[in-house]
Amino acid sequence: MLTGTHVAFIGGDARQLEVIKRCIQLDATVTLIGFDNLESIFTGATKKPLSCDVLKDVDALVLPIVGTDDQGFVESIFCSNPLQFEEEHAAALPRKCVVYTGMAKPYLKTLLAQHKLSLVELLDRDDVAIYNSIPTVEGALMVAIQNTDITIHGSQVIVLGLGRVGMSLARSLHALGARVRVGAQRPEHIARIYEMGITPFTLEELKQQVTNADIIFNTIPHLLLTAEVIAQMPQSTLIIDLASRPGGTDFRFAERRGIKALLAPSLPGIVAPKTAGQILANTLSRLIAEQIKDRGETS
Ligand code: NAP
Repeated sequence: MLTGTHVAFIGGDARQLEVIKRCIQLDATVTLIGFDNLESIFTGATKKPLSCDVLKDVDALVLPIVGTDDQGFVESIFCSNPLQFEEEHAAALPRKCVVYTGMAKPYLKTLLAQHKLSLVELLDRDDVAIYNSIPTVEGALMVAIQNTDITIHGSQVIVLGLGRVGMSLARSLHALGARVRVGAQRPEHIARIYEMGITPFTLEELKQQVTNADIIFNTIPHLLLTAEVIAQMPQSTLIIDLASRPGGTDFRFAERRGIKALLAPSLPGIVAPKTAGQILANTLSRLIAEQIKDRGETS
């Protein structure tokens, strides 16, 4: 339970609603900042404007998955006015406060470090990234189905990378009957791909491997699908780049060659905001409870 714990939320999207619901269920004191346009379904939460006063006794501050931008602006689909998390707000937070977000930009990291505030980046955690790979894969399959006129079953598919997303994706495509090849750089990844019954190749072989690809899913946040590689692909190849912006594809050259290349970010929030929110809610509520317990033990 989070009884007696003050959790404040600044902005967010539909995913945040699941986290808010969970905190209320666990009896936290919940303050919502930047939720002006939200039809109130939350009894037990108070809407407030962003001010230093409202932050001064907060135990946990929850920002959206993308945190702030480089000027401190926080996105909120529930608010028409801009929300900017500035120096004075960080200064107003008590030292015991922990700030939670998905991924923090340097602006937020620097500001919180200057004020000796702890930051937790949820998407850095293996457990969250693995759970999150489930809606990501469903979204990637949706994009593939929407942008091809062939079945995934029987198609020549390449997955680049065997990280949290790459592994879940390769497994699902294999189960759907695609002819899957996975490109990776580490020998243990090559061994794991083989163990999974999938065809591995090293990234040095990429140029040769793409010559008959129907769909290429990239999960490696590094430019690998260069002009030189794209030049080897059939014109009908579809590239779905899942890696964080700017992706790993030379999009300019792909367009020039008439190859469809799509950057497909933030799929969990698009295809399954409720599940994506529940994934965050499960982890966040556990982390806040641990934070409060640790504080109690050390005080
Ligand atoms: P991950 O577990 O860290 O996996 C990344 C993979 O990329 C690993 O196989 C890694 O191999 C490889 N890699 C990284 N840098 C490389 C380089 N310079 N050369 C060759 N291989 C390299 O990450 P993840 O959780 O699977 O996420 C993958 C990407 O998708 C990230 O950019 C993430 O932000 C993004 N993402 C997107 C969505 C979406 O909705 N589109 C959802 C979740 C995640 P090594 O271990 O050998 O370095």
